[in-house]
Amino acid sequence: MTSSSLQFAAAVTIPDHLIGEVHSKLAYVDERIAKAHISPSGDQITLELKYAIPAAERAAIEEKVQRVVLSMAKGAIRPKVQVLEDYLDRPTPFAADPMPELLRRGELFQEAEGIYALGPLFTRLIEWFENRFLQLADSFSARPYRFPTLIPARFLERVGYFRAFPHSLSFATHLRTDLDQIDAFAEGASCDEHGHLKVPLESFAPVRTLLSPAVCYHLYFTLADQTLPPQGVVATAVGNCFRYESLNLHSLERLWNFTMREVIFVGDKEFVLANRELARQRMQRVFGEIGFAYRVESANDPFFIGEFRKQAAFQSAFQLKYEIRARLPFKDGTLAVGSYNYHQDFFGRHLNIRLPDGSPAHTGCVAFGLERIAFAFLAQFGFDSIHWPSSMQEVFG
Ligand code: AMP
Ligand code: ZN
Repeated sequence: MTSSSLQFAAAVTIPDHLIGEVHSKLAYVDERIAKAHISPSGDQITLELKYAIPAAERAAIEEKVQRVVLSMAKGAIRPKVQVLEDYLDRPTPFAADPMPELLRRGELFQEAEGIYALGPLFTRLIEWFENRFLQLADSFSARPYRFPTLIPARFLERVGYFRAFPHSLSFATHLRTDLDQIDAFAEGASCDEHGHLKVPLESFAPVRTLLSPAVCYHLYFTLADQTLPPQGVVATAVGNCFRYESLNLHSLERLWNFTMREVIFVGDKEFVLANRELARQRMQRVFGEIGFAYRVESANDPFFIGEFRKQAAFQSAFQLKYEIRARLPFKDGTLAVGSYNYHQDFFGRHLNIRLPDGSPAHTGCVAFGLERIAFAFLAQFGFDSIHWPSSMQEVFG
């Protein structure tokens, strides 16, 4: 019998703090899954498939899902969530989903899933936040950098990125430098009805380069095999980042191609931790001035299945990551618009970045997702300038 949906009991009950994490990983289990649902109790999983398939193939999909569930949820311990700031209940004037209005106004043009062109209001709003982030960077006398959008595979390999986040990688290649290949491509290349380029894989050169998933890595690579000056390094940069999020790419909340502003600290442990804390306090003032509703709480990175339990527990135990989670009133939920990160001496060890005493340097970064912060602001304050903080009226031009 063929069927296009599939329901079964989870191999172990998924604790509620992991339901979101497991759900986001189900998007990577099988190309035939159109939608996945985990019951609020964490013990039932429902999959909608793109088309009907025979029972044996459904069983194979179920087996892959159970692998995810077991690996992420079996024996999982609930991390203690540490809340550093809680302003989630600040009153905000807007409650609707900004997406329809953004689309209606031509402020948003979807090029593909997770890829959007942004219009003037959105762009000015991002610039307003960018100016605040630049002021934050200036308050640390951060040195400005510009980093490429591409990143060599070898760099990511050296810092274990492939093992930790294989699911979200985006690869860049080009045609092989062979006249016959290039001519054949120029003559015959066309897209099918799904937008897939109809080109044999052999036409492409071997992959040596990826689209960068973060900004701060580029700085760490410039410092590899060096000894830091005694005062440490503070830098800032904005850049395009890429994380393939599969079925999770809906609306502006989750993009394949987004931009991030980072302020990056490299030095000894105290230097990095003290600056991360100072940055948080300074941003607390900025967010307070505009009445932004958000909370800062401990978090973990979205490690892939096999790495998840160990790495997430480690991050949580050592308080390595705090997220700025903005309220999205229309869904009574929150969205991470930024993070305060401490990597201990991970990059210092893997890239041989040394302190003057010869020991490995510590690193940390403060990262803001520009599209997300503008989106969350619109979700809280809407499109009518009367309801906006006076300091932000300039955005309307
Ligand atoms: P992270 O380094 O994962 O803490 O990311 C820093 C910030 O980048 C997050 O807090 C988000 O605001 C933003 N960000 C991360 N992933 C995405 C995504 N897929 N789409 C849009 N923004 C993102
Ligand atoms: Zn970073």
